[in-house]
Amino acid sequence: MSPRGLIARIGEEGSYSEYRVGDKKAVEERLILCQKVAFDVMVDNLMNSELAVIESAEAITAIGHRAVHGGDVFVDSVVIDEIVMKQLYACVRFAPLHNPCNIAGIEECMRRFPGVPNVAVFDTAFHQSVPREAYIYALPYDLYSKHGIRKYGFHGTSCRYVSRVAADVLNRPLEDLAMVSCHLGNGVTLDAVKGGEAVDTSIGFVTFCGVPMGTRSGDFDPAIIFHLVKEQGRSLEEVERLCYEKSGFLGVSGISNDMREVEQRAGAGDDRCALAVDIFVYHIRKTIGTHAAAMNGLDALVFTAGSGENSTEIRSRVCAGLGVLGVKIDERLNEMVRNGHPNISAASAFVTTLVVPTDEERMIALDTVRLVNHGGQVPPPIASLALTYPERV
Ligand code: ADP
Repeated sequence: MSPRGLIARIGEEGSYSEYRVGDKKAVEERLILCQKVAFDVMVDNLMNSELAVIESAEAITAIGHRAVHGGDVFVDSVVIDEIVMKQLYACVRFAPLHNPCNIAGIEECMRRFPGVPNVAVFDTAFHQSVPREAYIYALPYDLYSKHGIRKYGFHGTSCRYVSRVAADVLNRPLEDLAMVSCHLGNGVTLDAVKGGEAVDTSIGFVTFCGVPMGTRSGDFDPAIIFHLVKEQGRSLEEVERLCYEKSGFLGVSGISNDMREVEQRAGAGDDRCALAVDIFVYHIRKTIGTHAAAMNGLDALVFTAGSGENSTEIRSRVCAGLGVLGVKIDERLNEMVRNGHPNISAASAFVTTLVVPTDEERMIALDTVRLVNHGGQVPPPIASLALTYPERV
């Protein structure tokens, strides 16, 4: 059983580390001030604790990293060298919250494990196949050509993984399938995947638009920003915080950014929570429709991540409005997903609906092996992946 771990609330009160090997679990509440301390805690868990799984630094032959933003330079994962590092730094302007953390981890690995190859797996790379009419905004062209302002997309690693597992479950070649993958976690991305390649994605320039998320608004008319600044005299910083931190489920419900709580309160009769769930479901459904149109067809609908894997109600309500596309689920199968039944389609459905647990770490590990061992030539052995529903730590 491969170990899984999590270090949460870095730099905040209540920071902690969780580490699990099989059914053994270690949880430690301690002050974890920054990424560097978090890195030390992770290495201690892996190499020096009672549950250590790595004997020594010499046993590490390669390290894979999630690198959120690679701009439009990288269409695949890469072995990290000086040029890649420069590009990662150049992309900090596009992902100021994510890229600095990724860079800190890579630099720490280079320092602690010199000579070990590091591989960057970009969340943006999967979306480099999106055609230009879908990724270029109808803004003055210079903004794209000179300043790189375009749709980039995120959660590409998750989508790439689940689309491949879905083809495996369907026992059909990925190349023949048109799918929409719905990654419904803290961040939400819906991807249109045709023939194994992304042809459109719901998120855009940064991790902000598309379907509403925990605290992020998702799509709205950008003229509202001008209105808030000009008519209401709010500062740009305030409006930015409002859109990123005070919107989404939290903004509408006024209660929580966590869909579990919002759903629960909606069930208990809270109207604003019910509205937040309605908006979420509506936007997912609408985006599935536009993605199906972008692909001129739909063979499979794949739910993954937080609400996608765990919320029977969200899946049921999204699918209930998609009969026009040939989507129909069996409510009994929808209830049984976690018992290892990924296919929740009704017998009469034209589109297969699946629930596939995402595993970005596994995708990163597969890419790392592919690049370090085979120079990138051999595709990752997705076909041999087990469909497991891991306990989330
Ligand atoms: P991340 O996107 O950070 O990897 P997850 O994929 O675990 O995180 O998604 C976490 C989110 O998924 C939670 O904030 C919550 O909104 C949602 N979620 C998790 N479990 C459920 C559930 N049983 N019902 C509804 N929503 C859920």
